[in-house]
Amino acid sequence: TGLQELLLSRIRDVADYPEPGVMFKDITPLLADPEAFTALTDALAGIAKDTGATKVVGLEARGFILGAPVAVRAGLGFIPVRKAGKLPGATLSQAYDLEYGSAEIEIHAEDLAAGDRVLVVDDVLATGGTAEASLQLIRRAGAAVAGVAVLMELGFLPGRARLEPALDGAPLQAL
Ligand code: 5GP
Repeated sequence: TGLQELLLSRIRDVADYPEPGVMFKDITPLLADPEAFTALTDALAGIAKDTGATKVVGLEARGFILGAPVAVRAGLGFIPVRKAGKLPGATLSQAYDLEYGSAEIEIHAEDLAAGDRVLVVDDVLATGGTAEASLQLIRRAGAAVAGVAVLMELGFLPGRARLEPALDGAPLQAL
């Protein structure tokens, strides 16, 4: 579609970042282009409305850049999921496995209410580990999962399959 062509044309491939052999998808050209950034925000906000979301969760750090304008455009609240140690209040923490070692993310559970339906927004779904852990945090906080929406899914990695059990029927949409 025209939207996909516009978005793809604004994503830059950076070879050997952050380590040799990795082709990094850099979204900063898209952010710098108001037409593309607006189109992306509108498309993600449409997903938020379609899924009946009541809150948007953005995953640190690029999920903040995309998720915050989506929340405003959709008329919803925004909640950050941060790397461990960054949130000042009482947090729920979730550890997850990386290729080498593990990572931990956190949420302020009190910013979610029992009736909330949460859409998780991030830029890139790679292995799915970060998104999977965020869904576990949302459920542990007592809220429901409306879905996961990302700009781009790396189809050569099994992220979608990894995420499927945690989605429990909720949609994963990659633009
Ligand atoms: P995962 O947990 O799915 O393996 O990794 C996803 C996280 O790593 C996302 O928060 C995403 O921002 C980041 N990430 C992994 N690969 C890329 C990439 O090629 N480009 C960008 N922009 N982010 C990536």
